[in-house]
Amino acid sequence: MRILVTGADGQVGWELRRSLGSLGQVTALDREAFDLTQPDRMRQVVRDLRPAVLVNAAAYTAVDRAESEPRLALDINGVAPGVMAEEMTRLGGLMVHYSTDYVFDGAGQRPWTEDDTPNPLGVYGRSKLAGEQAVATAGATHVVIRTSWVYGRRGSNFVRTVIRLALERDELRIVADQTGVPTWCRDLADWTAMIVARLSPSTAASPDERGIFHLVSAGTTTWHGLAEAVVRLAPELAHRRHVVVVPIGTEDYPLPAKRPAWSVLGCHRAERVFGIRPAHWEQALTRCLERG
Ligand code: NDP
Repeated sequence: MRILVTGADGQVGWELRRSLGSLGQVTALDREAFDLTQPDRMRQVVRDLRPAVLVNAAAYTAVDRAESEPRLALDINGVAPGVMAEEMTRLGGLMVHYSTDYVFDGAGQRPWTEDDTPNPLGVYGRSKLAGEQAVATAGATHVVIRTSWVYGRRGSNFVRTVIRLALERDELRIVADQTGVPTWCRDLADWTAMIVARLSPSTAASPDERGIFHLVSAGTTTWHGLAEAVVRLAPELAHRRHVVVVPIGTEDYPLPAKRPAWSVLGCHRAERVFGIRPAHWEQALTRCLERG
């Protein structure tokens, strides 16, 4: 089975090379080989490669910069996934795509389900929502995995930022009024492999096994809670445990993009359909920091 992975150098794309390796022959392409702003070139690559599965881990993920580059964000996150899905429809293959908790407006009190109505607060969320819709419309057998607060040992993410800052400063001021779920990119890649294994060949996928699935770790926290855990658990901060993490409000740390206050995705559908039972976020964080 040929599997095409895009965004090969991103947090999730990097882990997918490993997790999908046992399922087939993985071709992982970076931005240079598979640029999401070049639809004709993308179509050609997919037609030449004829993958049975395309996993799109490439995305415009700069949430704040997106506010000043809405056209580019929409092209990459909203339009390109539809182009890929159209090509997978032609091939009769499976399209796996990622989306975000930022499609919701954050005005909730219980975990968001796949049936809740999205209402993104910013350009990034709107562009990702457009991508979900484009993938669904193209007609291929598809799975859209909505996830949140992705981190790992490489790339740019909150956990690595906290480690860097805690090595430099004795006090960190971190937002404590946004609630969500941190998710290790390696777990996400492993869950993706479970889904791909189950849906291969894609023609065997039942309607219940297609569409949107929420997948994040178990439990909830705030950015402040996550930062405290990083300071407590990161091996390279063993001599920096005295660093104080001060809770602040969103209004104390203004950013170009508005963030949802309540951003907890409920994963019951993925558990029921695919048997995926994510571990608690703090366990995952511990594994990442110790071994990642
Ligand atoms: P990363 O930002 O780590 O990786 C994204 C990758 O996409 C990068 O390798 C980047 O390439 C590539 N890329 C950007 N623009 C283009 C382009 N025009 N053509 C081809 N490749 C491009 O993201 P993650 O791995 O964290 O995210 C994976 C998925 O999960 C995405 O769909 C994202 O929206 C979603 N998600 C992520 C969250 C997070 O917190 N990170 C939260 C919720 C959902 P380059 O290295 O060259 O910049």
